[in-house]
Amino acid sequence: MIKKIRPDLLVKAVELIDLTQLKQSGIRALIIDIDNTLTPHHKDVISERKLEWLKQASAQGFLVYLLSNNRIGRIKSITASYGLQGFGFACKPFSPYYKKILRSSGFQPKEVCCIGDQLLTDIAGAKLNGMASIYVEPISPRDIIFSRFSRWLEKRLMTRKGY
Ligand SMILES: [Mg+2]
Repeated sequence: MIKKIRPDLLVKAVELIDLTQLKQSGIRALIIDIDNTLTPHHKDVISERKLEWLKQASAQGFLVYLLSNNRIGRIKSITASYGLQGFGFACKPFSPYYKKILRSSGFQPKEVCCIGDQLLTDIAGAKLNGMASIYVEPISPRDIIFSRFSRWLEKRLMTRKGY
């Protein structure tokens, strides 16, 4: 169980992920969480530094998908504001969108990297689908109730595993 949700890499923030290195390791598509990965919780704004990183990702040829368990309306407003593609109410880690993204992109699971701030949704979803994964530290501690519970559990798991 614990091995299943161990990310390949841990970083402090999404914009610190080295895109060139990702590309060299064969990654061609990114599935990125929204809340607390790109935006603070309950806020629709992506910071300049994160936006710049997203632009770089597209410029380097990565296919970028946002994937969130949050409300479809919220995700639609964020994707529309920033001209990004993404899906809300995704039911990570068991989201059908992982397979849909593979089908539409034609990429192999190992060519896709999932990025997010939660082990039990973002990282577990990547592992269940054979994709690479990067854990980012959450932007803000404010969170929805389910996230609070899963974060409590993550803390226990991480402590036990000696992350
Ligand atoms: Mg999140």
